Amino acid sequence: MNVTEFDYLVVGSGLAGLTFALHAAEHGSVCVLTKAELTESNTNYAQGGIAAAVGESDEWQLHEEDTLVAGAGLCDPEVVRFLVQQAPAEIEWLRSLGARFDIHLGREGGHSRNRIVHHGDNTGWEVERVVSDAVRRNEAISVYENAFVTDLLKDANGRVAGLRAHVADRGVRCFKGRAVMLATGGAGMLYARTTNPRVATADGIGLAHDVGAEIKDMEFMQFHPTVLYHQQLRGFLVTEAVRGAGGTLRNHHGHRFMYDYDERLELAPRDVVARSIEREMAKLKTWCVYLDIAHLPAAPLMEEFPTIWSKLRELGIEMEKDWIPVTPGQHYSCGGIVTDMQARSNVPGLYAAGEVARTGVHGANRLASNSLLEAMVFATSAARSVKSEPVGGALTESPEPKSIAESEAVRIRHSIQKSMTEKAGVFRTTAGLQDAKRTIDGLLAEYGQLPSAPFLAYSRETYNIAIAAQYVVDGALARTENVGLHFNADLVTSQTPVAPIK
Ligand SMILES: Cc1cc2nc3c(=O)[nH]c(=O)nc-3n(C[C@H](O)[C@H](O)[C@H](O)COP(=O)(O)OP(=O)(O)OC[C@H]3O[C@@H](n4cnc5c(N)ncnc54)[C@H](O)[C@@H]3O)c2cc1C
Repeated sequence: MNVTEFDYLVVGSGLAGLTFALHAAEHGSVCVLTKAELTESNTNYAQGGIAAAVGESDEWQLHEEDTLVAGAGLCDPEVVRFLVQQAPAEIEWLRSLGARFDIHLGREGGHSRNRIVHHGDNTGWEVERVVSDAVRRNEAISVYENAFVTDLLKDANGRVAGLRAHVADRGVRCFKGRAVMLATGGAGMLYARTTNPRVATADGIGLAHDVGAEIKDMEFMQFHPTVLYHQQLRGFLVTEAVRGAGGTLRNHHGHRFMYDYDERLELAPRDVVARSIEREMAKLKTWCVYLDIAHLPAAPLMEEFPTIWSKLRELGIEMEKDWIPVTPGQHYSCGGIVTDMQARSNVPGLYAAGEVARTGVHGANRLASNSLLEAMVFATSAARSVKSEPVGGALTESPEPKSIAESEAVRIRHSIQKSMTEKAGVFRTTAGLQDAKRTIDGLLAEYGQLPSAPFLAYSRETYNIAIAAQYVVDGALARTENVGLHFNADLVTSQTPVAPIK
């Protein structure tokens, strides 16, 4: 085996991966492998911002309380406290790298104070810009773009001590390090409709599963209620700040249907609004509903929502005149690889941070704008603890994971997405989940039986999607009550408190 050696290996170049790389580079050599361009990530598309108790009337205890309420009793309180206490320092760190944030703090559903640090409506782009610039300038960090990580490699003691990747123009390469940080982001591609970019194929879940890491809470999948419904711009998110600015939801007859579902109307928590929209679409047999902000003139809309305003305009939709067609779509995965406060998994040598990790911060539902924060906080603490990792032994030889023909992988992926969208989405039933389980187990078995084909990233992604889908469905079937984001119409709903939207 031809092996390249570094101190630390990082898979993924979103906020979690690059935060870890920058801190770890203070005490060792770092290799970042990422399967597309450096900045292509969920991070790059984040709109709203980063939650931090930095306002005059705010304090971390209030941020803590809001996070715990959103998590519906399933958060780990110690981890939540750590998260909110670290938040102001992480914002300062981003500023020190050159991040530009607006002077006023934003407000989002579930937050009892104005505490969203943001850069207009494209905060993710701004933070990804500063961390990727810093990484490119850092001589201790080597970046491999278009490098698809196919599997993790262990030493003879069972420690994760390296990985294998297909690197564009260089072929298969093995890398060795004292620790591997998985920062592969979300799982949007499990579903037919998602706000996530194409790279969000749950690869970290598949990679970690194959080395025996514990994975939990994948049934807590967050769906954003207002994703643009348009063929030319699939998955484009229309931030809830539009509803915060007075946007109302209407059905095809123009009726403001949230009056029929929840007294908090459009500012009810995301899961409540998403379920109401799905119900309304089913009732009227339509593919979307409409978001109406046409009572506001063009100037404040342009100023407050520059990205959304210009994207919609390119499609011929004028926010100040037209209703915006929207539908719920998968947005965020609360569960993932179980990690401790130093981002360590249960497998020695394997760390995870960001959306792929299950830190205990989100419980059954994520509070808006806590995920960019979580990505930084635990990547930072991982970089501190990784110093004490011993150097692993020689990598054990193992066969390359299997790829199948593209046409088969496409068929399998589409079948999973259809099944997950229809049976394991916003609304679930026990029979539907059992049906999804049969479908996904069957497709995964088929993947194993089909003839091997030369390496194909799409095929490996499809395998990872299938593994993650199994965790979602198995987790959902194992839940005996509706809590947070999990809603099975056959179960009794517990009266979980939700934060009042003020
Ligand atoms: C439209 C949108 C808006 C959002 N708005 C907000 C917001 O306002 N506030 C907030 O807190 N959160 C928001 N989120 C969520 C937040 O952006 C993500 O949870 C967060 O950015 C995840 O960061 P990450 O570093 O874990 O992963 P990502 O940023 O997704 O990065 C994952 C990286 O891993 C790479 N990768 C994956 N698999 C492999 C592989 N096999 N080999 C090599 N590389 C691989 C990818 O290419 C990518 O570089 C939003 C998300 C979306 C999609």
